This record gives sequence, C-alpha cells and structure tokens, in this order.
Amino acid sequence: MLHGKCSCGATSFAIDALPRDVHYCHCSQCRRATGSAFAVIAWCDNTKISWFGEAPSENRSSNKATRGFCGACGSPLFMKYDEADETGLYVGAFNEPHAFVPTHHCGAESRLVWCDVAATLPSEECERQTLIKKIVAIPAAVLTKTA
Ligand SMILES: [Zn+2]
Ligand SMILES: [Zn+2]
Repeated sequence: MLHGKCSCGATSFAIDALPRDVHYCHCSQCRRATGSAFAVIAWCDNTKISWFGEAPSENRSSNKATRGFCGACGSPLFMKYDEADETGLYVGAFNEPHAFVPTHHCGAESRLVWCDVAATLPSEECERQTLIKKIVAIPAAVLTKTA
C-alpha cells in the first residue's frame, strides 16, 4: 500500500498495486497543471486507487482529459483520459515519491532547454502530436494515389 495526499491533507489516497507506468511529461498542459517544469505521472488502475476525505475537484483540461486537484488547497493530484480505466497520479503527491522511478519521457517536443533531468532515458513526443502529424500526412498520400 502506497499513500499520497494534497498539501492540506483534506484529500488523500492509497494504491494497492504498483503503477503500470511512471514517466516524465513535459507537455505544456502538464507544466501548467502542476506549476512545474514537468510532471511525473504514475499510471494506476482505477480499481487499485482508494480516495479518503474530500473527493478531489476536477476540471476539464482538454477535449480528452480532466485534471484532479484538492478543492481546499489546490494541490494537483492527477490527470485522467476520458473513458480510461486508469488514472495518472502525480508522483509528487505521494508520501513515498522515491518509490516511483520514471522510465521515459513524454511530451519531448515541449521539454525546456535547460531541463536536463534523466537525459539518457528514452524520449517520445506526445501521442496527440503524433496523431496530428499522422492526420496531416494522410491527405498527401491520398493526393499521390489519385493524381
Ligand atoms: Zn488540500
Ligand atoms: Zn503531459
């Protein structure tokens, strides 16, 4: 059992299984949502997370995700994609943050130039960015075939 809480203690949580994935995210949404240079996110199955005290407040941060925070003190707690069966808990909210070792970087295209943390780990751009590139690439391929 690993535990976490907001800074005022009104909201706390526990997980009873290890996260599927732990990574840095450098995207601008994570940067703003956490007020930091990057987020460190631990993806945990929703059924393995228990919440205690005040339920976290949520706001829609994009057309596909919401972010959770303590309604009393504002501490960022998690992000969650719509319909997903897992939640990305912010590692900084855990009581044992040292237990979560990030294995890769996401949002590499937005990484700040002075941010050289864990520079040897694998790095990838945001899924969304990849998707946009794929969508942009389709019309070109279609045009070539029909020309
Ligand atoms: Zn709080
Ligand atoms: Zn992000």
